[in-house]
Formats: sequence, C-alpha cells, structure tokens
Amino acid sequence: MKKRTILAGAAGAGILAGAAVFFQRPRSGRVRYSGGYPDEWHRQTDVLVIGGGAAGLSAALSAAENGARVTLVEQNPELGGDSLISGGYFNAVDPLRQAPLGIHDSVELFREQILDSGGGRNSPEVASVLASEAGFSLDWLERHGMRFMPQVVKILGGGFARSHKPLLPRGEGYIRVLSSECRKKKVAIRLGSRAEEIYRDPSGTVTGAAVTDSDGRTAYIRATRGVIVATGGYGANRQLLERLAPRYAPLPHDSQMGATGQAMLEAEAAGARLVNTDLAECVPGSLPQTGFFARIDMDPERMVMVDESGKRFVDETGYRSTIAQAILGLGEGKCWSVADSGAVASFDESIQKDIYRNYYAGAVFRAPTLDGLAREIGVPARALVRTIRQASNRRIQTPPFWAAPIHLHLHTTLGGLEITGRAECVDSDGTPIPGLWAAGEVAGNVHGVNRLGGNGINTAVTFGRIAGREAAKRII
Ligand SMILES: Cc1cc2nc3c(=O)[nH]c(=O)nc-3n(C[C@H](O)[C@H](O)[C@H](O)COP(=O)(O)OP(=O)(O)OC[C@H]3O[C@@H](n4cnc5c(N)ncnc54)[C@H](O)[C@@H]3O)c2cc1C
Repeated sequence: MKKRTILAGAAGAGILAGAAVFFQRPRSGRVRYSGGYPDEWHRQTDVLVIGGGAAGLSAALSAAENGARVTLVEQNPELGGDSLISGGYFNAVDPLRQAPLGIHDSVELFREQILDSGGGRNSPEVASVLASEAGFSLDWLERHGMRFMPQVVKILGGGFARSHKPLLPRGEGYIRVLSSECRKKKVAIRLGSRAEEIYRDPSGTVTGAAVTDSDGRTAYIRATRGVIVATGGYGANRQLLERLAPRYAPLPHDSQMGATGQAMLEAEAAGARLVNTDLAECVPGSLPQTGFFARIDMDPERMVMVDESGKRFVDETGYRSTIAQAILGLGEGKCWSVADSGAVASFDESIQKDIYRNYYAGAVFRAPTLDGLAREIGVPARALVRTIRQASNRRIQTPPFWAAPIHLHLHTTLGGLEITGRAECVDSDGTPIPGLWAAGEVAGNVHGVNRLGGNGINTAVTFGRIAGREAAKRII
C-alpha cells in the first residue's frame, strides 16, 4: 500500500481521494509537514505507543488503565530497551524509606538538584513534574507488583540517597511487571515492528504511523487518540551522533541496538521540536571487548578513583558531567576505580557475575593487599596505600581489594523531543501538537547538561504514565 501527500480538508481515516497537496498549518501559513499520508489505514487503535522500554510499557499500561485500547510496537525482537539492561536504580522522594535512615529529603530539594545539575538547559516545569511525580510512579509500580529493597542508596552521580534498588537484577523487574500488567489489560504488543512515519491530518492532529514488521510488510495504524513516542535515546546510532553530538560519536556506548533515534527524527519531520541534541552523558565503563559490564564504582561512597600515579583526581560523589570532564582531563593517562570486597558483595548478583567474568578475562584486578593490587595495575604502591588511608570514610578495608580500569562510555543521550509537563510534544512555536506525546529518554528537556544517576527510569515511568493517561483522556 502506497502513501501519498496529505489532502487538505480530507478526513483522517478511510480511503482518501483527490489531488495531492502539502499540508500547511493555517495559523502561521508556514509549511509544517510535507510528508506523506496513507491512502488507507490497515488497523485502528485508540493509542499507539512506539517503544517497549519502561516509558513505552508505562504509557501503554496507563492508557489502558484509563480506558483506551492500546497498541505498542517495539522494533527489537523483545521488550526492554535500555531499561532492561540498566542498573535499575529509581530516584524518588520516599519518607517511608528515607526517614528511618535519618535522611531528610523533599520534592523541593529534588527539583533544585535536577535544575542545578541541568545547567539551565532543562525545563523548570518538566523538572518539577519529575520531582513531584516520581514518588507516585514508585507507588504505582509497587501497586502493580514491583518490589524494591527496603533501604535507599546514593549511586554514582545521584547526589543524594534516594535511589531505590529493585529486588530483581538490573531492569528486569520493571519489564516483567509492566509487560505482564499490559497483557492483562489486553494491550496489543507487536515485537519486531518498527514505527516509521508519523502522520498529521489537515487540522494538525497526529493520527497514526506507518509500522514495518520484520518481514518487511508495512501497516498504517490509525490512532484515534494519538501517538506516544517512547523510543529511548540514540546512543547506538553512530551516524546520528556524528551529526548531532560529534564529540561523543567515537566513544563506546552502553545502549542496546534499539537506541537508534529514528522515531525521534520522524516526530521532528511531523513538526515536533527537538532540543539539546548536542548533549550526552558519559560514565566510567570497561573496554567493550570482554562484552561484560565491569564497574565497581556503583556506590560512590565506597570506592575511589585514582590516576596512574595512584592519586585521587575527582570527588567521586560529584555530578557525572564533572567526573567525565575530570577523566577526559587525564588525556591518555590511565585511571582506575578501587573498592573492597564489601562494596563488591553489596552489588546485585548479575553485576557481581560480570565483575567476576571480567576478573577471569584479565580485565578487572583483585589482590589480598593494597600493595599487591598496586603491582597488578602498575601504580606506585606507597601512593595507592596513602590515598586509601586518606579516604578512610570510603571503607576500603576488607580484602581482597578490587580495581577496574575506567574507560569513558556514552551512557545516555540527553537531548530529544521537547515536552510540556503533560508530556505533550510541541511545535516550533512551543504549542502542543494535538495527539503527540513523548516519554522517557527520547524527551530532550528533562535533564539538561547532566542527568542525575537514578533519574533515567523514573523519567521513563513518570512521563510514560502521564502520557498514557493524557492520551486516553483526549477528547476527540
Ligand atoms: C547500562 C545502563 C545502565 C543504566 N542504569 C540506570 C539506572 O540504574 N537508573 C536509571 O534511572 N537509569 C539508568 N540508565 C538509563 C535508563 O536505562 C534509561 O534512561 C531508560 O531506561 C530509558 O527508558 P526508555 O523507555 O525511554 O527507553 P528504552 O528502555 O531504551 O526503550 C526504548 C525502546 O524503543 C524501541 N524503539 C526505538 N525506536 C523504535 C521504533 N522506531 N519503532 C519501535 N520501537 C522503537 C527501542 O528498541 C527500545 O526497546 C542506564 C542506562 C544504561 C544503558
């Protein structure tokens, strides 16, 4: 089935006929969308969700809970996206868990930290929504069966002890719980289906998308209430990085192969505004060759980073952007994370497994003494021992001691579709586009120049939940 240019005044569904003209938005008279329009819709749903990570599944579940019929398309053969391979840490103000530990937190403090770390490049409105709604997202997940550890922790770049760790390893719990709840609510999930063009009708309303299955067949799906773009970042698309954020293109990346950014560009082609696409976040990682994640820096209060002279070069509890700059400042010089066996034992099983795999592959080091560790990694032993003694608050005291080489990885792209506090995409005037929402990492004005560690999954669930609700309730 071919698509063709949209007909001014034609109905949004059914077979369209007549001369083809490009759509112009009457209010400004400027051409906003010069793409095509399907001759015919093959399927109809109320809400079409693009992307099957935490944002997409949250959006689908929330839309279904609010009475909509929902179709979710995921281009990978399985659900999960980066959410599945993430560390799973979820930031939320949570007096029930924080107060017994003597942690005084508030939505205002969380909001200030998001804005402070964003360096003026994020939206105060959107940051406020994240700070105030993340706790509701946590409750919503728990009501659906998600289980978290009883205590909260401070993670690398998180800045504050409000990160919730799921009981299941990494992001598995989110995907299991959300996908099984979606199935109970009869959300139609199509795997191996890539959304391509996003269509707007002559009134400017988004009405559906073209979706191509792995067998190459394209279906035009009409979404009567709208489309939610929840397609994650573009860290796995080197060509796009070279165009949008060239300084990050040469780095190894942490994302799975679905982080292509193509649907974000389709939304842009349909008139949605992109922001901050030059920004990305880097974190320490291992060399990609071993294929396993080798990070022993998960708890920044129980490790130190040292350079090749055995000295600390950065405050490990600082923002990720500051840590990344300090690592880049070492030039070609090597650097290491050093922790003790107590810290390693506190990580979840799958992270420990990866550390051991790297140890047996010779990519992570372990020794019964700090002198021995210094010899293993080739730094001056006296300097390393002195550094660890001076950092006594880091509790690096239980042998064996561990060291992992630090290689900077592109962790998360920070730019994408500009959204409002209600997850609406906006056009170049900042006006919400009827029928188009975005949630999760594809949203570009949530974090600014730095994303606080633990603010990825909460962003996905929070804006997914909001987008799903808003789409289901849209009056048509
Ligand atoms: C290794 C790692 C560890 C992390 N650890 C943490 C952590 O501990 N805490 C935290 O808060 N954040 C963490 N993050 C960040 C966090 O994982 C992401 O910010 C979050 O998961 C993004 O969720 P999402 O749903 O927006 O995107 P994703 O989970 O990436 O899902 C997007 C999905 O959309 C699909 N898609 C893309 N384009 C299309 C298309 N055209 N058609 C159909 N489907 C499409 C993709 O295949 C993908 O499955 C981590 C990230 C990584 C890589």
